[in-house]
Amino acid sequence: MTDKIFLASPHMSDEGYEMSYIQEAFKTNWIAPLGPNVNEFEKEFALRVGSKYAAAVNTGTAAIHLALRAVGVGEGDVVFCPSLTFSASANPIIYEKAIPVFIDSDYETWNMCPKALERAFEKYPNVKAVILVHLYGLSADMDKLMEICRRYGVTVIEDAAESLGTLYKGRQTGTFGEYGVFSFNGNKIITTSGGGMLVSENEEKIKKVRFWSTQSRDEARHYQHSELGFNYRMSNISAGIGRGQLKVLDQRIAKKKYIFEFYKRELAKFPGIDFMPINQWNQPNYWLSCITLSAAVKPFEIMDALEKENIESRPIWKPMHKQPFFEEYDYIGEDVSEKLFESGVCLPSDTKMTETDLERVCKIVKGLWK
Ligand SMILES: *Cc1c(COP(=O)(O)O)cnc(C)c1O
Repeated sequence: MTDKIFLASPHMSDEGYEMSYIQEAFKTNWIAPLGPNVNEFEKEFALRVGSKYAAAVNTGTAAIHLALRAVGVGEGDVVFCPSLTFSASANPIIYEKAIPVFIDSDYETWNMCPKALERAFEKYPNVKAVILVHLYGLSADMDKLMEICRRYGVTVIEDAAESLGTLYKGRQTGTFGEYGVFSFNGNKIITTSGGGMLVSENEEKIKKVRFWSTQSRDEARHYQHSELGFNYRMSNISAGIGRGQLKVLDQRIAKKKYIFEFYKRELAKFPGIDFMPINQWNQPNYWLSCITLSAAVKPFEIMDALEKENIESRPIWKPMHKQPFFEEYDYIGEDVSEKLFESGVCLPSDTKMTETDLERVCKIVKGLWK
């Protein structure tokens, strides 16, 4: 069997930056809890994305959860969320017994459709928060979406879990909303083996999030709690990996772009293959290279053919309003997210792929057009 090609797998730096931070942590016995890597990672990360403050937590999901709490979302509150996303965008709404309303995407961005958002506001004027997502490293159309949210005076949480380093009109995604969320899960563009970050310009809220994420321990010698706590903080070891990974983020983005352009060069000429939309205002991180098919060849045929050759690929996210767990919640839109799900494939986009690997993938895909 030939070597497996992954969709997106952890890729540590050639220079060994991550290991040197970990070794430092071992030497000083800053294994747990917290420690200097956590503080430095927060500072370096905030600087990198151009946000004032950052709180490092153990998953992106935890960051979304604490963002919702920072906004004050509670039982019975309505929260808008794109339907086309990973379930982690929506699950924390349920943790807080709030009510998700799912909004459709548009073909121009694959992200939240401003027209559908407008309609949703007409139906639910008393929304507590809007979660915007930048899928696959493509940015949502922030000018339009933020204008609508501002007009209704609603707080925006940006789920930038997949879009670290993506720019919209020159500005980092994750810095438009009151809160920005990032993930360092193993398949993301950089990883800490598992982790997340919440960024904001609001220092008080970020301090609060750090407090909540360490069990809400009041300042006292004994264990004193006046608020509900969570065990969500990032460890000093994970943060060390993150500091090292941050140094190679630009390299990773460059490679992801190379992968996307390689596929485009090789495959775009085949009838019925369309590539994910790169708008002129968008500088994506190209986290995953995705295509949609309007050809006789179906997505499952591509995925099957690749799987036979030990190559991983994946469908586009299945919309939340089509998930058994979320079916009971309202959905505003047409059927764009469903169409994208039904016709889409995420091609392997692992930054460790060689040119030979990319050729192997393209050859298999092209073979289906004969
Ligand atoms: C990965 C991801 C998350 C969750 O991040 P974790 O670190 O895995 O908890 C949230 N939203 C989106 C869109 C994601 O892709």
